[in-house]
Amino acid sequence: MYNTLPQYPHKSTRELKASLFLFRLLSSRFVVRTSLHLWRFLQHIRFPIKLLIGFTGYGQFCAGKDVASCFAIAEKLAHYKVFSVLDYANEHAKSAADYDHNAAVVLETIAAAKRNSAYPFAVVKPSAIGSFELYHKKGLGHKLNANEQLIWTTMQQRFEQLAKAAKQAAVVLMIDAEESWIQDGVDMLVLPLLRKYNNLKVVVVLTIQLYLKDRNDLYKRLLKDADEKGYVLGVKLVRGAYMEKERSRAAALKISSPVCNNKYETDSQYKDALENALKNLNKHFCIVATHNQSDINWVVEYCSRTNISLGNPNLWFSQLYGMRDYISFSLAKQNANVFKYVPFGPLEQAVPYLIRRALENSAMKSQTLQECLMLKKELKKRKLNG
Ligand SMILES: Cc1cc2nc3c(=O)[nH]c(=O)nc-3n(C[C@H](O)[C@H](O)[C@H](O)COP(=O)(O)OP(=O)(O)OC[C@H]3O[C@@H](n4cnc5c(N)ncnc54)[C@H](O)[C@@H]3O)c2cc1C
Repeated sequence: MYNTLPQYPHKSTRELKASLFLFRLLSSRFVVRTSLHLWRFLQHIRFPIKLLIGFTGYGQFCAGKDVASCFAIAEKLAHYKVFSVLDYANEHAKSAADYDHNAAVVLETIAAAKRNSAYPFAVVKPSAIGSFELYHKKGLGHKLNANEQLIWTTMQQRFEQLAKAAKQAAVVLMIDAEESWIQDGVDMLVLPLLRKYNNLKVVVVLTIQLYLKDRNDLYKRLLKDADEKGYVLGVKLVRGAYMEKERSRAAALKISSPVCNNKYETDSQYKDALENALKNLNKHFCIVATHNQSDINWVVEYCSRTNISLGNPNLWFSQLYGMRDYISFSLAKQNANVFKYVPFGPLEQAVPYLIRRALENSAMKSQTLQECLMLKKELKKRKLNG
């Protein structure tokens, strides 16, 4: 049975109090929205934002400004068998120079993972290394002009370079999923990499967003394809982080929303995908990337019922850095494979990421209140134990 006792061995009492304060603020949509307006105003007047670092949640959700500065945190987590994946927080790449820079940083994380077992994997966001517009256009099946074709080829080469480096370093490379309307274009670049690099073991991992109506079927088709073609299918299963954006775009374009009609449908698809992943663990690889405690309980119970070891190398669990630590540490204590998604990057650049986290926390009030409850329990326990 999944152990729900609070688990924060890596945090001092002072850090726990700071986390509790922050999550209390994040549970209020009003406070989050007001802070965002204030934040945008400060950026507009070019206020030196670094002076506010202590008030931003940066330390709670980001590990440092570059690869080297994340090392201390990764080592601390690894001491408790919770591993780290360094996730470069740069959500606004626009030019070829940005894409090259971001690809170079991901190469740095692959090199760090090769040297240090605290980092089992690396991760990249497709929009960080290629043009959002071209993923979209290509996915729609539109013909590219000569210049766009050249840019597309460069995007393909960046993916190829990262996958090749990951394979040489024996590191798994995860590809994040973003807005649905670029996903077909991204798949055109990523699916061939799965077939090419995962022939013996998993190197490239695709993210499947189960809040999208069509992605569970795609997952089933890919499992079949992998069996037929003889490669290892690596997937990270998530629900999906862009629901409001997806819905408002669909409404604006007067098209049907690609997102499931309600949470129940998303949950059913997620559960179905989990079950398929667990049934195929003898051949294929899966990362259970969720903060949903009942799903994690369900996976743990399923494994115990079917004699799957929680330490099966094809099964990993993951939560975001600074969130649901009690789940991650409890899983690690049960010898499950667990890693944290650990964002890093300079403060100004990490702001869009922090904003997404703040909005997500305020939207999922019950989860945020649960986080507060666990932090309070831990603080109380420490007080009683002196
Ligand atoms: C390690 C890790 C990696 C991640 N990587 C990615 C990624 O690459 N791409 C990405 O998009 N997200 C990613 N996410 C975020 C993820 O998709 C979810 O947004 C987040 O984890 C919350 O979902 P949950 O399963 O943890 O929790 P839950 O609270 O059980 O689910 C909340 C989610 O359910 C869905 N949902 C909520 N209400 C409704 C509704 N009314 N109708 C339909 N669906 C609904 C939404 O997806 C919402 O985010 C990642 C999360 C983690 C932990």
